[in-house]
Amino acid sequence: MSSASSRPTASSPSGPPSGASDTTTTPILALDGVTKRFGGLPAVDDLSFAVRPGEVLGIIGPNGAGKSTLIGLIGGALAPTGGVITYAGRAIADLPPHRRAHLGIARTFQIAQPFVGLDVRDNVIVGALFGRRGLRRPQAARVADEVLERVHLAHKATLKGDQLTVADRKRLEMARALATNPRLLLLDEVMAGLTPTEVEQAVELIRAINRDGVTVLVVEHIMRAIKGVSDRILVLHHGRKIAEDLPDEVLADPKVIEAYLGERYARQRAAEREGATGANATDATDVTDTIDAESEWKGGLA
Ligand code: ADP
Ligand code: MG
Repeated sequence: MSSASSRPTASSPSGPPSGASDTTTTPILALDGVTKRFGGLPAVDDLSFAVRPGEVLGIIGPNGAGKSTLIGLIGGALAPTGGVITYAGRAIADLPPHRRAHLGIARTFQIAQPFVGLDVRDNVIVGALFGRRGLRRPQAARVADEVLERVHLAHKATLKGDQLTVADRKRLEMARALATNPRLLLLDEVMAGLTPTEVEQAVELIRAINRDGVTVLVVEHIMRAIKGVSDRILVLHHGRKIAEDLPDEVLADPKVIEAYLGERYARQRAAEREGATGANATDATDVTDTIDAESEWKGGLA
């Protein structure tokens, strides 16, 4: 949440985050005019934004909006067709994923990709060895045990990757990313398939990771969860940014409501807001639950 004051690496100790226009700190991540085309069609289209150190940036948008492509571009699985990606002041678009991991960038995959022949613990050990230069296996094993506790997967450490439920595969993705000791953590729908209680646990975990000084990009479908964890939210639609603001502002934006719930709903909502005054005006702008209940692509299982 907007607890920038409690973060060691936050940019504005005296107040809440002030949005992308804050120029007092070097961004940990900056995209400038980034485009990714697949066979001529842009999945990410001329996208620019910056992330401050210590920030949690939520990324939302309908299915196919380009969210996973964006994570791939930052993590290094995909090369941009154009534009510049800067991490801690350095252009990284030409670096392979393992070099980016050594620099502190870690990601999860929306479709979990465990090594199915390895058990859970060894999967996480591989993550630790991949991300941290010069780590030896005994140290990597200690790191793995720590992060498995943290993501509530320690009791399944000896199961093979393909014996896990969807929710546990998500936990394993999280564990592998955390084992690399990231400074910038990219989460691609790690809450899909979790129960409401487990979602709350995951939100708490992300907050705790962030309090430790890790900057986080969270792609998520569950609106209540993303609203609860993000300092700001960026909205993608057809690969383009249609909004980037504080969570309450974004969720009151007719463009965003339209992208999620359709044009008719957005018009109805606007009329309600015009007619509403005082306390009613606040009620009329909170569409979080409506989006979670009615949006056709909510909680898409991967
Ligand atoms: P999101 O994660 O927001 O649902 P994606 O980034 O997965 O969206 O996809 C954005 C668009 O790019 C979609 O139209 C998708 O079909 C397309 N796309 C994604 N990955 C590939 C790929 N490897 N090859 C071709 N098209 C792709
Ligand atoms: Mg996706």
